[in-house]
Amino acid sequence: MDLLKLLAKQVEEVNLAHPKKLRYHDEDSEYVQVVDTINKLLESYKKQQATTKRLNENFTKTQSNLLESQKMAKVGSFEYDMNTGQLTVSAQMYRILGIKSKEGLEWKDFLEFIAFRDKKMVLQELSDAVEKGSRFTLRHKLYSQKRSMVDVETRVKVRKKSGGSVKVIGTVMDISSQMEAKKTIEYLAFHDSLTGLANRRLLHDRLEEAIALAKRYEHLVGVLFLDVDRFKFINDSLGHDIGDKLIKKIANVLKSVVRESDTISRLGGDEFVIVLPHLEGVEAAETVAKKINTVMKQPFNVADHTLFATMSIGIAVYPNHSSCKDEVIKYADAAMYRAKEMGRNNYQVYEMNMTRDLSDQLSLEQDLRRALKTDDEIQLYYQPKVNLKTGKIIGAEGLVRWEHPQLGVLYPDRFISLAENTGMIIPIGQKVLELAAKEIKAWEKHNLAVAVNLSGRQFQHGSLVEDVKNIIEKYEIDPKCLELEITETISMNNVQNSIRILKDLKALGVTLSIDDFGTGYSSLSYLKKLPVDVLKIDREFVMDLHKDKGDVMISKAIIGMGKSLDYKIVAEGIEKEEHTEILNSMECEYGQGFFYSKAVAKADFDKLLEQNG
Ligand code: C2E
Ligand code: MG
Ligand code: MG
Repeated sequence: MDLLKLLAKQVEEVNLAHPKKLRYHDEDSEYVQVVDTINKLLESYKKQQATTKRLNENFTKTQSNLLESQKMAKVGSFEYDMNTGQLTVSAQMYRILGIKSKEGLEWKDFLEFIAFRDKKMVLQELSDAVEKGSRFTLRHKLYSQKRSMVDVETRVKVRKKSGGSVKVIGTVMDISSQMEAKKTIEYLAFHDSLTGLANRRLLHDRLEEAIALAKRYEHLVGVLFLDVDRFKFINDSLGHDIGDKLIKKIANVLKSVVRESDTISRLGGDEFVIVLPHLEGVEAAETVAKKINTVMKQPFNVADHTLFATMSIGIAVYPNHSSCKDEVIKYADAAMYRAKEMGRNNYQVYEMNMTRDLSDQLSLEQDLRRALKTDDEIQLYYQPKVNLKTGKIIGAEGLVRWEHPQLGVLYPDRFISLAENTGMIIPIGQKVLELAAKEIKAWEKHNLAVAVNLSGRQFQHGSLVEDVKNIIEKYEIDPKCLELEITETISMNNVQNSIRILKDLKALGVTLSIDDFGTGYSSLSYLKKLPVDVLKIDREFVMDLHKDKGDVMISKAIIGMGKSLDYKIVAEGIEKEEHTEILNSMECEYGQGFFYSKAVAKADFDKLLEQNG
């Protein structure tokens, strides 16, 4: 009995939190047996306890891992017991909703977070799933108190038990950044990265859409094809960085001209296409083109440079010119080419012969390459420049002609812009300089100045000064007898650069003229900076002198101003005796024009010189 009491006391003293084996206080075999059994039980209890502890530790770890990964994956979760109405929401779910987890959240409040326009769809899926005990996945938006709207992907599973319990278990993944990335990718795929304007793909989409609508509602769609005049010179001489900045500014100007519903796209380089989706008539497209030509007259200030960037614009209209999207663009492009040929800075509406011209243009290009290798196809004709008081020839302007074997004599308007666009203007220009220098030498005893025209590309070309120097040396001519004409517009593009080139040319001793003066937009202060000797008044002001008082005033002003700055003034395009009289009365000393003579071949000019005495 004592042993039994002893045993009871021993068992009572066992600390279950840290169970230790019982010690033997007697050798009685029955007592020993019972203690053995108890010790075995304690041992297995201890083991079980260790396992539970380990399991418990693991469990907490897993749970915190789970929460952590929920946070990382931006996945929130919830569980809603439909029978008890209890809603459990994970910390990350609260984070997605932008609310603090302390706030108790009811199921109906939870559903309020679904964006209004998605709510009907989500609730419909939910009630279907509850009815069938099924699952669904949906992408929709949620209101977030911190970020206003979040894109999420919600997965829901409804668990129905036989006892009638229904649980809605779900995960909600925040996919805003994926959607953001998707949007960016889509944007990049359809927009020009420099200007943010539509790109070629979006242009085609929009035009297709516009044509489809126009078909249904029977209206017109206009397409304007725009190309910046002489952009290549800006890019070549000032660098792509300045070129890019100019393109951006031009894009902004275009945006200010068209309506919001119109699409402006950039096809790369200096080409833009505008879609006018709802056009009343062709004139409406012309009005837009006119507006663009007008606003593009403003100078652009780009990093210390004052740049001018006029536009040549071609217009084609659906369905007047074609009902095919690609063709409408092609025709607008052809019309743009015609605008370039017409002297740039204007617009042209497509006409059927323009596309034929385009293929003509191609074979003309090949012909011109071939012509450059011949000795006699590229020629210089000479138009006399006279003293208006005495009528005596004081010089000549060399004007290029192309004696085409099949087409006959071609004038510069047929091939100069083609030569500019293809770079062939450089060898043509060199040839023209050589021909002029040869004649200066041949007419040495008459002391004639012979002028040649420089195109923009030629003027900006790095070898110009060197070429001129070599030719003066090669033909041993008096440099002041070689006159170089550049137009006002060319000299204005990139003034600083023009001044530098003109100074280098001046240093060679040649005479420099501003051609077509009055058609550009240069100011007096600008003109003073250029080291030029001659101003040639554009024939636009001269040809109507006998009937247009405005032209008289303008010419008078140009002559007065030019003389006060010590320029020699030459009037172009004198066609009538009256013109000479008026110019004489304004004290304009020199001129040229059909009234005196057209440009003639060298042999005929020799005859004119003979008559000149
Ligand atoms: P420009 O330098 O202003 O040349 C004057 C143009 O006016 C010439 O046309 C000339 O024939 C024409 N003209 C002269 N007098 C009269 C007149 O009384 N009435 C009328 N209506 N026209 C007159 P052309 O030869 O067809 O040359 C046109 C333009 O082509 C020139 O204008 C010049 O800018 C360019 N050009 C001519 N030769 C060359 C050249 O060798 N190189 C370059 N780059 N351009 C050239
Ligand atoms: Mg000229
Ligand atoms: Mg001229």
